[in-house]
Formats: sequence, structure tokens, C-alpha cells
Amino acid sequence: MTLFWHRRDVRASDNRGLAAAADEGEAVPVFVFDDDVLEHGSDARVRFLLDALAALRETYRERGSDLVLARGDPAVVLPALATAVEEGTSSGSQSSSDDADTVHWNEDYTKLSRERDARVRLALERAGIDRESHHDAVLHEPGTIRTNQGDPYSVYTYFWKKWRDREKSDPFPAPESGLADGSELTPSALVDAADDDAVEVLEDALLADLPTIEDLGFGEPEADVEPAGTAAARERLDDFCEEPIFQYDEDREYPARSGSSKLSTHLTYGTIGIREVYAATESAMRAAQSRDEGDEGTEAQDNVETFQSQLAWREFYTQVLYFNPDVVTENYKSYEEPIDWRNDDEELAAWKTGETGYPIVDAGMRQLRAEAWMHNRVRMIVASFLTKDLLWDWRAGYDHFREFLADHDTANDNGGWQWAASTGTDAQPYFRIFNPTTQGERYDPDAEYIREYVPELRGVDAETIHDWPELSDEARTEAAPDYPDPIVDHGERREQALAMYKRARGEDPEED
Ligand code: FAD
Repeated sequence: MTLFWHRRDVRASDNRGLAAAADEGEAVPVFVFDDDVLEHGSDARVRFLLDALAALRETYRERGSDLVLARGDPAVVLPALATAVEEGTSSGSQSSSDDADTVHWNEDYTKLSRERDARVRLALERAGIDRESHHDAVLHEPGTIRTNQGDPYSVYTYFWKKWRDREKSDPFPAPESGLADGSELTPSALVDAADDDAVEVLEDALLADLPTIEDLGFGEPEADVEPAGTAAARERLDDFCEEPIFQYDEDREYPARSGSSKLSTHLTYGTIGIREVYAATESAMRAAQSRDEGDEGTEAQDNVETFQSQLAWREFYTQVLYFNPDVVTENYKSYEEPIDWRNDDEELAAWKTGETGYPIVDAGMRQLRAEAWMHNRVRMIVASFLTKDLLWDWRAGYDHFREFLADHDTANDNGGWQWAASTGTDAQPYFRIFNPTTQGERYDPDAEYIREYVPELRGVDAETIHDWPELSDEARTEAAPDYPDPIVDHGERREQALAMYKRARGEDPEED
């Protein structure tokens, strides 16, 4: 038997590591709840993970196999389990190959995961068990796309051109055979098959059923977390590639339209494989060619390519994180002096609860709490507002997003925050400061999105909503007595932000 250790790849299809394990024969899929990882979890993310695992277990059971569940330190649990499944087959009727005790997994690129994997590798090596990791989460693994000088890219546009032109792997089908029989994978069967040293570990670690969210130290999220699992992901992908992908370039900018794929949480947990997503975009590209031939243009194809370029942003930030693991807590770009953030607690609290008196910002922050997701344009607006209007250190925003976003992905979240704060690689220049009022007018002209998430403004016309920060106190009280006044003056804060960044750059803030 071989072991396949699921981590952020909660699916059976298009899974490179699982396909390799099943090729060796009698793969045993396992998921280990690791308290060191759970420490960084959140209600929304643990909910999605548990739902995704339930769907995956069902998939394996339909194929006559099962998902083994355990709780503990993978560096202890996996060697014990590997010994148990090897013992199991050597005494059982099934044949075992030379590679019977290999543990396979797919690479994860964060610093914490890499440190954990190094410990697991060492523990397996000490136990004499083969181990093999695979690149699966991205189409082009970190380090394979480099500048002509051989360095990792820090500018997206050049990365994208090479990424786009590189050949891509096809999806891996779900194993039809090569999975261990479910009857051999119950906790009691595994404990019975284990050698003496492993019995105690497995008795403690193996779980017959999925734990509840409370068992794992979390509570039900206040947000309505979307359905998890590969079937739900495929439904999203199919719907998106049916039509919205052909208008993606424009529609994705407007939060009131359903213009983007909403695949981010699925990509974060790997409930769908990236090769499968890319293959769907290639089919859409072929459909776009037919559409464009009729219209004698390239518009539909350009839209599909814009979507593919967003998948490349994900891989760009993955390689930024891989080569710069400290960006999770440190600025990517160094300034001459530390940035002197203002960091006012009351203003942070108003931002978090969506009570800043800037309607588009508040709508976004409330969407986050309601859905554990936020529209990309609005993420950029609220991140700019926190860092450049409230002059708050981006790390406070990142922490809040990490707690509330179901799609929190260390590389993308960090990339997004450092882009907005002008501290990142290929970031927004420090002097580009979004005006939240004009952003709202441009991207939510009818204030549909704002009214959806800010009920206090539901009876108010769009012009009044967009003018909110400029209205007199009396006009505001008359229009929406329960909605807050703006907590800051954007014009004043913009000047303060420019001065703050200039000081950090070692420049005189008084000089133009
Ligand atoms: P689509 O527009 O349909 O894009 C398809 C996929 O491409 C996304 O699912 C995502 O995997 C990738 N993608 C799209 N835009 C970006 C981008 N700018 N950077 C990296 N990948 C991208 N994305 C996350 O997946 N997790 C995060 O934690 C996250 N935090 C962010 C924080 C900030 C401050 C900002 C500005 C952006 C953040 N993003 C994050 C990027 C982006 O907002 C989301 O990926 C996108 O809104 C998800 O919606 P979608 O799946 O409909 O995207």
C-alpha cells in the first residue's frame, strides 16, 4: 500500500500526488487534523474545510475506498500509519510492490508548511519509509519561470508573458482503481494491522468520523460559507465558462454584477484542480474563437485571456512568497525609514464593522462578514482606505482578512495587502491613493451593491449615497439617520498619507 496525505488538495480528481500514489497501487488517502495548523484557522475556513472533507470522504466511499481521518502531529501519525498499512497488506491477500510504504503528498509553499514538511520528511526517513512530494497547486511551480538572468520575477507583466506561453499539463483523472479497500481502512482494522510501536499512536490519533467544528476549537461562522466540495466547484466553473467569462474583463470590476468566477475558496482548499480550471478556460477560448469569427473581432478571446491572467497573478504571488517567506510579516519593499503608521484603534474598529461612513468601504466590510468573501475591486478599495485613509499598518488588515475570508490564501492575501499599502512587489505606487467616493461612483454607479450590504441606505438614492461624505450633518440625518457620519476627511488624510510615505522614503514631506 501507499499513503496519500491530503492537505490543501481536498479532491480526488486532477490530483497529481494522488494519481502517483494510486499508480503504485492500493493508495490509502489520509487527512490529519494538525493542531499547529489549526491554530492559524478561523471559523469560516474550518467550516469550509470540514464540508470539503465530508464531500471527499463520500467520493472515496462511492469508489469502495475511504478517507482515513486522524488528529495529531503528522510527523508522528504518518510514520505509524505507513507501518500499519504496510503490515496490513503483507499479512493480507493483496499483493504489495517494492514501493508499498511510500508516503506521497502535494507541496504547499508557505513557510509554516515547508517547515512542517521538513519535519515529516525527517520522521519518515528515520522510520525507513519512502516519501515523495509533487507539485500540484499551481500550473508552473515556483522557480520554473525566471528572468533571463535566472532570478525569480518581481514584476508581474514579464512573469505573465512567460507563464502564458508555457505548455500546461492536462488534468489528472480521478483514480478508477488503485485505491485501498475501505474495509481495511477503519480505525480498528488499521490498529489491528499496526505493529506494536504504532498501536498506541494510532489508537490516540485515528478518528472514525469527521470531528465537529467545536471539537476543533472553532464555532459556526456568522457568515454564510458557500458549499464546498468538487461538485460545487465544478458547478461554479461550468456556470462561469458558459457565459460570464466572455464579459469578464469589464464585468469583474462591478461588484453588483456576478462577473467573476468565485472560485477562490475552491482554489485555496484545492477542491478543484488548477489544471481542470485551466482546461475549462481553453475550451472557453475555442468557443470564444467561434464567437469572434462571427463578430470579426477578438473581444471574447481577450476576455478569456484576462481571466487566465488572473490565474497567473495567483502563481506570481505564490512564487513571491516561496522566495520571500518573510513577506507574511515584513514589507517586501524596504523604505529608508520605518513607516510611521497612525494606528488608531477606534478607526480600525469602525473599518472592521463597516461603520466608516464611506458607503463602498462599509458595504465591502459587511459583505466580508456576511459571506466570508469580498469582491476584488472592493478588496482593493477597503485595503487602500485602511492603509492610506486610516494610516493603519497593512498587517492589521491582513489579520482581519485572514480571520474572515474563507478564501484566505497566504500568498494572495499578503500580495493584495502589500500591493495596496505600496510595500509589496510590483505594488501600487505610494502616491496613488484611491478616492473611495469616486471609486464608489465609478464601480457601483446605481449604489446597488452598497444598498445590498448597508441596509441603513436602502431607501436612499444613489447620488445621495455617493455624496455622503460631502453632505451636511442635517442632510445626512434626514436621508439615513442610522448610517454613520464619515470618520475621516479623505482629502486631509490623503495629504497625511503622502507625508507619511515621503518621510519613510527619507524625503521632505513639504517638497512636491
Ligand atoms: P476571479 O476574478 O474569478 O479570478 C480567478 C482566480 O484567480 C481567483 O479565484 C484567484 O485564485 C485568482 N486571482 C484573481 N485575482 C487575483 C489577485 N489579484 N491576486 C492573486 N490571485 C488572484 N485572493 C485569494 O484567493 N485569497 C486571498 O486571501 C486574497 N486576499 C486579497 C486581499 C486583498 C487586499 C486584495 C486586494 C486581493 C486579495 N485576493 C485574494 C485576490 C482577489 O481579490 C481574489 O482572488 C478574488 O476576488 C477572488 O474572487 P474570484 O474567485 O471570483 O476571482
